[in-house]
Amino acid sequence: MLYGWKGKILRVDLADRKIVEEDLPDEWRKKYIGCRGINDTILYKEVGPDVDPFSPENKLIFGTGPLDGTPIGLGRVSVQTKHPNRYIGEGGFGGYWGPELKFAGYDFIVIEKKSDEPVYLYINDNEVDFRDAKHLWGKDTRETTKIIKNETGIPDIQVACIGQAGENLVARAKVMHDNHAGGRGCGTIMGDKKLKAIAVRGSGGVKISDPTEYLRIYREIKKMLDLRKANDMFVPAWSFMSANLMLQGFNELGWLMAYNAQRGSLENALTGEEYLQKYVVKPKTGFCCPFPACGRRFEVKEGKYAGVTGDEREGGFAYAAAVVGLTSWDVLLKVRNLCDRYGLDEFQVLYTIGWAMECYERGIITEKDTDGIDLRFGNEDAIVKMTKKIAFREGFGDILAKGSHEAAKIMGKGSERYVLAIKGQELEVMPERGVYQFALCLAVSENGPDHTRWYPPYPPNPKAIPKDMPLPYDPYKAFKVRDVDDKGRLAKWLYDSRAVLESLPTCVFIVRGILGIDMSLWLDIYNAVTGINCKPDEFIKIGERIVNLERAYIVREGFRRKDDAVPRRMLEEPIVDRHIPPIGKNLDLMLDDYYTLRGWDLNSAIPKEEKLHELDLDFVIDDLKNLK
Ligand code: SF4
Repeated sequence: MLYGWKGKILRVDLADRKIVEEDLPDEWRKKYIGCRGINDTILYKEVGPDVDPFSPENKLIFGTGPLDGTPIGLGRVSVQTKHPNRYIGEGGFGGYWGPELKFAGYDFIVIEKKSDEPVYLYINDNEVDFRDAKHLWGKDTRETTKIIKNETGIPDIQVACIGQAGENLVARAKVMHDNHAGGRGCGTIMGDKKLKAIAVRGSGGVKISDPTEYLRIYREIKKMLDLRKANDMFVPAWSFMSANLMLQGFNELGWLMAYNAQRGSLENALTGEEYLQKYVVKPKTGFCCPFPACGRRFEVKEGKYAGVTGDEREGGFAYAAAVVGLTSWDVLLKVRNLCDRYGLDEFQVLYTIGWAMECYERGIITEKDTDGIDLRFGNEDAIVKMTKKIAFREGFGDILAKGSHEAAKIMGKGSERYVLAIKGQELEVMPERGVYQFALCLAVSENGPDHTRWYPPYPPNPKAIPKDMPLPYDPYKAFKVRDVDDKGRLAKWLYDSRAVLESLPTCVFIVRGILGIDMSLWLDIYNAVTGINCKPDEFIKIGERIVNLERAYIVREGFRRKDDAVPRRMLEEPIVDRHIPPIGKNLDLMLDDYYTLRGWDLNSAIPKEEKLHELDLDFVIDDLKNLK
């Protein structure tokens, strides 16, 4: 009897229209758990360095884990592919799609080859087939979802789909499910394969090995997320009040990347208070989420953009408004709404436009390049127009659709200097010069700058940690934001532990306070669901194995230490308006520390043979043997 997992992989061949069911190997479950960990395994074994991201040989993998379909799995899904930039394109979404896939009887879907014509995949328990999607091509994600629900006659069928950005191969297009977004770049590859959507409904369930123990631990975790008792100062802020409440604090500290990170603050910056008072309609949460409402439904009620609606979780995109000098919630929410509907990545959009705005103000780009659009910072109409042009690849939007890194190569004239990207992908909102651990964690990511791989980066209040609890790093040192001390250990712990959590899966946004440093409850719930008697040492080792497998993947693709970088501006330029110095050599010091702890070669960042052997990754050793 299999508990937690369903034990099935669905392989879908888009070219030959074949669908095959395979058993999920026992060995993979034990070594990588599920979701992100097993997706990595499939990608490593099946999509080698000779595969071009846009060739039929690239694959797109949707993965769930043993906890999905149970309340603490929170419906998290990992979507993975070889990213257009050749590293691991990975990202997760929540909502109800993942649990439905489990209820239909599958843990994973592996999409192979390419279709000639737009199709969508229909899964209703064990009825799996291809459906024509010509009438959906050109529709946005909301329209697509609505049409599929209507034409299947199943109102609660769950849809993961792409919008026009994925169809038009915009560089970081996302897969969208009910306003949840996953996998920057995965939507691009889904569009390349002409797969418009996967609609899924299931009527089964997930078997739990020890339901009584499961409920006991679930209640314990819920208690730890109680707002009145939480020992994480961000729990109340994140839940009822929205992360956006910290916008003002970021502005005062100089942590906003205003005007393409030329400054750390801007006048009349957006505030969380205004957002809450004027735009939030109701709280929004995910499948069985015990965290008290991390998301919100918003609506613009008056003015030019009246009627614009959407959902946000954790609010990060509002911090990126400063990049383009935007100070209007109405306009930002319009941009967010467009991104969700087109399946665009809002960070690509805002950072790429921010880069173009700096180049425009410096005279590197002119109105001749921008189709006559006045691309000065803060020009609200220009930001909205350019967002649409990126999705449809019109005029200058066609260049920006490639992302700022590629766009700078095309425009040249020194514009490369102003790109804010890591491994070719635009940043998110973490201020590297303000907090060194952000710089290190973003630099070493195997899937481009992605904060969820090491989130939340804050330890709980050190005074609230029980004295007898063994700690993976020093919480006092971790709170010293512009200091390199112990940051390697902190980053290693965050990466390893989050790799486990994202493979169970659970949502890293609920890993708060003690739950973020003590893995014992997560281990207990994993054992209670699956009946596996995994021990604490092996549990965290699974995370280390996953990170090393991911590192091996990008190393095999040619990435080295020089690619574990942050944008030049962060290393060389101060935040003038807050007198914050550049990171300078501190990044190198932290990288040395991190690689040493990892057992990776200091010059190349390639995992050493002993480390791979220790982690039972011997099948990787030969692939890396002759690499330098
Ligand atoms: S914490 Fe937020 S993002 Fe995570 S599962 Fe709950 S609602 Fe979704």
